[in-house]
Amino acid sequence: MRDEPEIGILYLVGTPIGNISDLSPRAQSILENVSIIACEDTRHSGILLNRLKIKASLISFHKYNCKKRVPEILEHLANNQTIALISDAGLPTISDPGEALVSATRDSGYDVVCIPGPCAALTALIASGLPAERFCFEGFLPRKTRARKLALDHIVKETRTSILYESPHRLLKLLEELSERCEGTRPLYVARELTKKHEQHIGPNLNSVINHFRKSAPKGELTLVLGGAKPEKKIKINNDELIKELSNLISQGIPPSMAAKQLSKITGISKNLLYSLIHKEQNI
Ligand code: SAM
Repeated sequence: MRDEPEIGILYLVGTPIGNISDLSPRAQSILENVSIIACEDTRHSGILLNRLKIKASLISFHKYNCKKRVPEILEHLANNQTIALISDAGLPTISDPGEALVSATRDSGYDVVCIPGPCAALTALIASGLPAERFCFEGFLPRKTRARKLALDHIVKETRTSILYESPHRLLKLLEELSERCEGTRPLYVARELTKKHEQHIGPNLNSVINHFRKSAPKGELTLVLGGAKPEKKIKINNDELIKELSNLISQGIPPSMAAKQLSKITGISKNLLYSLIHKEQNI
């Protein structure tokens, strides 16, 4: 174990999304010992740090001041200060500020270390029971009409599970937009108030979720986990292309049966047929 925090490192620290006990001992120790904590809202994080009995020097870092703050934080690193970045909840940079700071810190030759912690997207995904082997994180959809329509059209065709964030007062609109584009039987879970006293998982499909929220107005924090679209059957790909794709997967160290399974998911072509191609082709 290294001694932390180290000079010249920016620490990205995951904080609880509801249940304060989810803060890891390592995160607690970093937050106790860094010279400065950059956070979205000093009042909000002040309350959390108070509950954790952490006395810290806080500076604000949010989307409206991050341009000005990035060089200031780099200056602190240059002056041998130790810095942690947190967001209001969960992991910084996941639908939260921080990305520009991380890349500027790396570009300036400093290290960045993440102290992992809760993230609503992953917590909702794995509790939903929907396929988690491959998935897409969409975060909040754009608000502008055209960009939003494009995003929705893309999401409903996506064959992987999609994860979306939404505020309670916009949830029904989003559910209606989805139901205009996909069947009511499309698997969907809405995770509500994860890690908190009134945690709830509403599903198992678009119809049942809409019915639920029409009767009981959405409240609290919400994450949507939408099952993927069924792959379009019979994509026309010739055997040479399939063999090339299979050998590419196998050359990455993926076992033949897994390579056949993965390609089957993408193309809709039977796993057994793909597996038999591997055996027929001696160069794979
Ligand atoms: N950085 C955070 C993370 O790692 O999860 C996400 C921040 S984003 C600004 C806030 C959104 O995350 C909320 O509007 C909601 O969609 C989702 N969220 C956060 N906490 C949640 C919770 N306890 N239960 C369900 N969704 C949550």
